[in-house]
Amino acid sequence: MQKIVDFEKCSGCYACFNACPKNCISMKPDEEGFLYPEIDNEKCIDCGICQRVCPVLTKYKGYPKGNAYACINKSDETRKLSSSGGIFALLAEHIISQDGVVFGAAFDNDLNVCHMGIRDIDELKKLQGSKYVQSKIGDTYKQAREYLEAGMKVLFSGTPCQISGLLTFLGKDYENLVCQDIVCHGVPSPLVWKEYLKFIENQIGAKAKKVTFRDKSYGWKRYFVRLDFDKEKKYTQPFNRNLFMKGFLENLYLRPSCYDCHSKSLERQSDITLADFWGIEKIHPEFFDNKGTSLVLENSEKGRQLINAISSKMHHKKVDIDSALKFNPSAYRSACIPKNRKRFMKLLCAVSFKKAIKQNVNNNFIKRCTNLIKRFLLKVIK
Ligand SMILES: Cc1cc2nc3c(=O)[nH]c(=O)nc-3n(C[C@H](O)[C@H](O)[C@H](O)COP(=O)(O)OP(=O)(O)OC[C@H]3O[C@@H](n4cnc5c(N)ncnc54)[C@H](O)[C@@H]3O)c2cc1C
Repeated sequence: MQKIVDFEKCSGCYACFNACPKNCISMKPDEEGFLYPEIDNEKCIDCGICQRVCPVLTKYKGYPKGNAYACINKSDETRKLSSSGGIFALLAEHIISQDGVVFGAAFDNDLNVCHMGIRDIDELKKLQGSKYVQSKIGDTYKQAREYLEAGMKVLFSGTPCQISGLLTFLGKDYENLVCQDIVCHGVPSPLVWKEYLKFIENQIGAKAKKVTFRDKSYGWKRYFVRLDFDKEKKYTQPFNRNLFMKGFLENLYLRPSCYDCHSKSLERQSDITLADFWGIEKIHPEFFDNKGTSLVLENSEKGRQLINAISSKMHHKKVDIDSALKFNPSAYRSACIPKNRKRFMKLLCAVSFKKAIKQNVNNNFIKRCTNLIKRFLLKVIK
């Protein structure tokens, strides 16, 4: 076996890595820092399992569109640590209270993003909040299967492509599995993230210890990126001024497969989908308090039961799914590839993050002034 799937289609979901009976697949970074499977041909027995579990080649059927809700966790403390309405935490608390296991993305000690499983409520904070870097799945699909086979409840949270990978890897339905995905804009390169960290640590003169991509201290809509360093130093910046977030939101360093995502569809493969409820202040202003509101899609019967089980712990309202998704095109449309993506990556490798980003993000002075005037006029009109 030479390769599993075309390079630009591979989402790095790790299904092949987890399924190989000879453990002859390793995940190796390319020059942009994204991980791809590499087969050890000496050990490969050409069994074809890696291709059978590849979600690009074997598409798992999604559920037809279901109900949608605006949801807010009644605990403001939990919501503060979450990106939107804190609904993931409610799902996780429920599964853990039933002696189950929850898988999601966490930072490791070096601020890499990796999936991990937790069984203890005290560990939940590690999984809360969005990390805007592609998460390494590692062998968590295999771990999840062991728990499922032992009859334990499992909640697996991830991007749509990670849920596709888990489902094709498992290859059968488990009554005790709940899959929850997020509406995903696309995942940034772990290498670019590391280069950003180097740049900011240099600027601050200390080592970063903790990252909060969605600090809501000044509100949910204009969230801040916050980094805490050793020597008691900290750095906060509005998301639209932060260089890493700018490049992310301008799609400069998403994984190549994100520009034509194979898992993006309104027929979701997960039982539940979570998203930021952008536009809530226009549709249902009573659900907007600028502390975070989630859009929750109930895709399957299992999803309906779980949402019902946590309903007493949240404020919620059924909403029209099409009106809600109008404000969130990432739910069904892949990000566009910018013309200068290649140029950015070349500069990143040859020069530095700072130079590469400054020359490639939209920093146009005239545009910034126009936006300021527009915002001012909008305020005056209101
Ligand atoms: C890369 C990325 C892009 C996103 N793009 C959009 C978007 O375009 N539109 C939108 O409405 N919402 C998007 N979201 C989702 C949104 O930011 C919230 O995660 C979602 O609303 C759930 O919020 P919450 O408050 O319920 O829970 P939170 O506590 O904020 O959610 C935490 C959950 O997100 C998972 N998660 C965090 N980082 C990652 C990661 N790198 N990879 C996989 N899973 C991760 C954790 O495992 C955990 O289960 C994105 C999230 C990520 C990570």
